[in-house]
Amino acid sequence: MNRQDTLTSLKSHSPTVLIIGAGINGVGTFRDLTLQGVDTLLIDRADFCSGASAASSRMAHGGIRYLENGEFRLVREAVQERNRLIRNAPSLVQPLPTTIPIFKTFSGLLNAPLKFLGWLEKPSERGGLIIKLGLIFYDAFTGKNRTVPPHVFDGRRSALIKYPRLNPGIHYAATYYDGLILSPERLTLELLLDAEKEGSHARALNYVSLAGVNGDTITLHDEISATTFNVRPRLIINAAGPWIDTTNRTLSLLTQYVGPTKGSHLVLDNPELRAAIGGHEFFFENNDGRIVLIFPLFDKVLVGTSDLPVEDPDSARCSEDEVDYFIGMVGRVFPDIKVSREQIVFRFSGVRPLAYTRARNAGQITRDHHVQEDRLGAIPVYSLVGGKWTSFRAFSEQAADRALAFLGLPRKTDTKSLPIGAGKDAPVLKTDPHYTRREIMEMAEREKIVHLDDLLLRRTLLATLGQLTLPLVETMTNTLAEALGWDELQKKAELIRTLAILADRHQVILV
Ligand SMILES: Cc1cc2nc3c(=O)[nH]c(=O)nc-3n(C[C@H](O)[C@H](O)[C@H](O)COP(=O)(O)OP(=O)(O)OC[C@H]3O[C@@H](n4cnc5c(N)ncnc54)[C@H](O)[C@@H]3O)c2cc1C
Repeated sequence: MNRQDTLTSLKSHSPTVLIIGAGINGVGTFRDLTLQGVDTLLIDRADFCSGASAASSRMAHGGIRYLENGEFRLVREAVQERNRLIRNAPSLVQPLPTTIPIFKTFSGLLNAPLKFLGWLEKPSERGGLIIKLGLIFYDAFTGKNRTVPPHVFDGRRSALIKYPRLNPGIHYAATYYDGLILSPERLTLELLLDAEKEGSHARALNYVSLAGVNGDTITLHDEISATTFNVRPRLIINAAGPWIDTTNRTLSLLTQYVGPTKGSHLVLDNPELRAAIGGHEFFFENNDGRIVLIFPLFDKVLVGTSDLPVEDPDSARCSEDEVDYFIGMVGRVFPDIKVSREQIVFRFSGVRPLAYTRARNAGQITRDHHVQEDRLGAIPVYSLVGGKWTSFRAFSEQAADRALAFLGLPRKTDTKSLPIGAGKDAPVLKTDPHYTRREIMEMAEREKIVHLDDLLLRRTLLATLGQLTLPLVETMTNTLAEALGWDELQKKAELIRTLAILADRHQVILV
């Protein structure tokens, strides 16, 4: 069904389940429920995978540092899910060797006990001993279903032979494996399109938002036609990520489930740094325990993260202070490689929908997930709180199981070994900027493109990899206009909208 067919079908046929929010958790739950034959409508007020799920650091990882918080269940689950992602979507999630440069030996040993006693303000930098211990546990969690090799621990001399541009002040370097999600946006879209193949009971609409509630009637707003329509689901799943509480307020439910924290990233065009890191992620912390990542993204280098509490998820932007911080941290690990602001081709920022807590240090807030239940009269509302990109499948399964129990339906199948998209037969992601007219036309038809920025920011890697120029954007606008039937006025509006988003959210100025 195309967008119009879906909107028309909703007039005569309400869904059983309404999922609000098409980030990875909403889409994962949509896939699981539709596989069980449940009539499900998924909506997002913007494009699919345009919130936290597009802002992630792209790591499919267990989160070795959560071991220190005693979160063994979470790490075990995430390691298993990482392995499944590498197996089920091998063209989009690949093993990523991850190296930790270590500048101390004994530091950090007291982090875990102090945290347990509630006496830890800021964790101290982790030294070689505690990292070695963590990696032994981490390898153990991989168990029999190993998709990646075990860790290797190098002393200073051998580390500097392997990575000659590393800071000579290191004491050790530990290398272990996680996964790299090459394009979170495409992976999410492939999951969604897989779900829609299940049949007409699977309906997904981007640019449709929740407008309000009256009894058991939910009003939705089509952002494109600026019209509203009603649905009467038996169950609502609030998968609005950092916007869970504002979404609940629109449903007249007063909740405080999330306490969002911001993280940011830079994409750098720095061939020297790119050559120095090779195929490795460098994962390290500054002396107050905050994490920084440097890793290869095709021919570019991605640098980022930080964990700062924010009030309004819509206001998250990568600040100049963060840029200074990231550039400074690259200098700590690769001191003789110069990184400058002119090499930044793209920036992005997003907000983690972490569970609300009074924890003093954002890095210590759990990344675990859970479902909160409220009621709108007879309609249950499940809020999907917390979680990591990596563990979306397990979280979606948990939410779907609860929904099936409420609906009195059996689970017919599970998603543990289900290939995503074309699985291992999928073509490797296209990274060159030369798209043919036919390729754009096909994407427009198959991939639910509504706006020009959907194409440039999420269906392709053009913006992320810094490949956009004004003439290229104009050509793309013309081709998309042909596919989607835009007139001159719409073409102009799309161009203005896209240039504004690129400048405001990604500091990409095209002239
Ligand atoms: C900086 C950063 C780095 C991260 N790095 C990693 C990592 O490396 N690995 C990892 O595993 N995890 C990582 N995470 C965590 C992971 O990205 C998130 O936990 C996950 O993406 C949350 O997905 P979600 O579907 O719950 O939320 P979102 O992706 O935010 O989806 C919510 C959706 O709801 C929509 N919405 C909101 N309100 C409404 C409404 N009223 N009506 C309709 N739609 C609405 C939004 O438009 C949005 O698309 C990171 C997160 C951040 C921010």
